[in-house]
Amino acid sequence: MSEKGIPEAPSLRDAMRAHRKPFHFMRKGLLLVALGLFATAGALAVVEPLEKPAVYTEQSVLPLPSIDVLSETVSSDPFISETVIRRGDTLAALLQRLHVQESGLQTFLIQEPAARSIYKLYPGRLIRAALDHEGRLVSLRYDHTPGTRDEGRFVSRWLEVTPDGEGGFQAEEREQVADTQIRIAEGEIVNSLFGATDAAGIPDHITLQMAEILSSKIDFMRDLRQGDRFRVVYETYASEGRDVGAGRVLALEFQNKNKTYDAVWFAPESGSGAYYDFDGRSLQGAFLRNALKFTRISSTFGGRRHPVHGGWRQHAGVDYAAPSGTPIHATADGVIKFAGWQNGYGNTIIIEHHNNITTLYAHQKGFAKGIKKGVKIRQGDHIGYVGSTGWSTGPHLHYEFRVNNKPVDPLSVDLPVARTLSPAERKQFDTVLAQYRDHIQLLNGDAPLLASN
Ligand SMILES: [Zn+2]
Repeated sequence: MSEKGIPEAPSLRDAMRAHRKPFHFMRKGLLLVALGLFATAGALAVVEPLEKPAVYTEQSVLPLPSIDVLSETVSSDPFISETVIRRGDTLAALLQRLHVQESGLQTFLIQEPAARSIYKLYPGRLIRAALDHEGRLVSLRYDHTPGTRDEGRFVSRWLEVTPDGEGGFQAEEREQVADTQIRIAEGEIVNSLFGATDAAGIPDHITLQMAEILSSKIDFMRDLRQGDRFRVVYETYASEGRDVGAGRVLALEFQNKNKTYDAVWFAPESGSGAYYDFDGRSLQGAFLRNALKFTRISSTFGGRRHPVHGGWRQHAGVDYAAPSGTPIHATADGVIKFAGWQNGYGNTIIIEHHNNITTLYAHQKGFAKGIKKGVKIRQGDHIGYVGSTGWSTGPHLHYEFRVNNKPVDPLSVDLPVARTLSPAERKQFDTVLAQYRDHIQLLNGDAPLLASN
């Protein structure tokens, strides 16, 4: 396939060529094995976390509590049955399917406050029972919360019911913190970002973070090009050997139209975490590139040009085709200057920002609750819904960026960033960054990777 005339930076192009050589693949494999690392298919590799930087401390892993009740009983040959909760299931029906005939158990479950999580039977979740030879209950386990993100950890919670030794039962809520693994993946855009991340085995949760992290730099609905490349380091969570969820993007390199953007998650000892570029500049831009959130659905709309307008010049704005009702978000902090009907623009919001900048959002189906003139708005606030009011033939957002009331192409403006790191923070930052670079270096052998300063 031709490269569609999109030139790549030489280092990345060479890196990809090198990467395709079988010899290189072999050597990569050997390198990973030699280092006791574990590589999965394609461009995805799981590595043991290197020595964890300070930012990771909240992700400590507790000793495995789980299942031990079930596995301990293996020696005495219990009968273990499990069933998936169906819509409309009752406790009685579940106990029957599990072959639990224990008299008094159902009453206990209904009356015992400590077992109240079983009141809510979520369809799709698991209930397991272990019974001994006489059919007496050894344990009952309800996985009501298989995994949730909680303060940067990934926690599974379940209810466990066991005999109390006196003819009755006892109930206890238990939890387990999943193991954190660090993964590295890379990809190349062919049709869409999701197409590339799917091919690289990257979870959607990570893909959306990637778009979010660089949302002040790249308009992911319009700027992506075939041949764009990325590398990402991220966390996943595993519990009892199974993947249970994805965590946070730790580092990211994204080459878009010949320009390489990078990002690293950094939490200084004295502050909260945020993303910075590799030079330590905050990626929290004063303006987002785009008022629509990048999603799986919107990503397929992005390449389409709305038929109403031609290029940017004719009508002084950028059009984003999107399904009617898609939420519209303010691209920066400001104050609502206008919210109402404008001829041609239909339902329109104008927000006033610093430095004589205003943004305009047209053709809306309707406004979000509480949106009216004079209301203060924060970046990312939901202000309205995509529609087709005014002179419009299909649902789309018409977005304008004005400086001194003169429309400017928002995609061409280089917007300033907020915060830089202090010298002390910068030292910590460099340590963190060096570790991510090492990770990615392992994946790609001698190919130059994260651009070195
Ligand atoms: Zn337009």
